[in-house]
Amino acid sequence: MVSESKIIPLQTINDSITKKHNINLYILRTDLPHPNISGNKRFKLKYNLLEAAKQNKNTLLSFGGAFSNHIVAIAAAGKEYHFNTIGIIRGEKNSDLNPTLKFATDCGMDIHYVSRTLYQNKKELYEYVNQHFSENNFYMIPEGGSNALGIEGCKEITQSVNIDFDYVCTACGTGATMAGIVLSLKNDQKAIGFQVLKAENYIRNEVSEWLNKFRNNPETNQLNNNWEVNENYHFGGYAKVKQELKDFIDQFEQTNNIPLDRIYTGKMMFGIYDLIQKGFFKKDQSVIAIHTGGLQGDTRIRNVDF
Ligand SMILES: *Cc1c(COP(=O)(O)O)cnc(C)c1O
Repeated sequence: MVSESKIIPLQTINDSITKKHNINLYILRTDLPHPNISGNKRFKLKYNLLEAAKQNKNTLLSFGGAFSNHIVAIAAAGKEYHFNTIGIIRGEKNSDLNPTLKFATDCGMDIHYVSRTLYQNKKELYEYVNQHFSENNFYMIPEGGSNALGIEGCKEITQSVNIDFDYVCTACGTGATMAGIVLSLKNDQKAIGFQVLKAENYIRNEVSEWLNKFRNNPETNQLNNNWEVNENYHFGGYAKVKQELKDFIDQFEQTNNIPLDRIYTGKMMFGIYDLIQKGFFKKDQSVIAIHTGGLQGDTRIRNVDF
């Protein structure tokens, strides 16, 4: 049902900084194969969609903010694979739909708004959903697609990398993608997660919990210390942007002809370049940056600016 054969390009990034520091930097373009079921969200949906089909569900129900990449992916997947979709959106309805919700609606998604207070309390939110949508034969996917099946899918991200590497880097919002990546590593490989929101130890704890669930022996987490979370590049919090970040993203796009979003991949790449310049990576090491997508939400930010 979900096609596996899509090729994910691995691009070499060769610029003055990578050359000067002798770092082999690559970017895995998971944003490219599918325009709307994009990036890491496609990996997170794969086993969830297979499970929904197996359970004979005809509707996918999920959650997100008004600019959510995940909501776009669910809406597009619903259209492509013939599920009805229900999107529970955090916050009040605006008079005009933004491009994200317009796209979702055009795909056939049924949009419902809930207050931020209700959205925050997951137990109450799930109760509300079960009460209101009990007649829809729905399969529920948590916010961001971040559940065990989502992580199962994210284990497959590094399978597309056909070279040896030392480090793999990803942006972290819930940490589910990072957990999947860590579970897929060989012993001599390391993962770095770049936390895009401001909350001390948040992603560290989330990833640890997921790894404990997936690994029979939790001690291997400590023994096998092959991952770390970097909290230095969130730029003040989720979706917070500074001029320095915008300039970096523009420069990177000009030099390499690769667009980055300002919420996730821009912050990760800024962090990678800063670490390269600080000598964090050793000469001749290979670093894979995962382009997790996110460019649909970015048009909003650009529109505001121009
Ligand atoms: C959702 C998203 C992430 C975060 O993934 P998590 O598994 O929640 O950490 C990273 N990058 C992009 C572009 C995303 O849309």
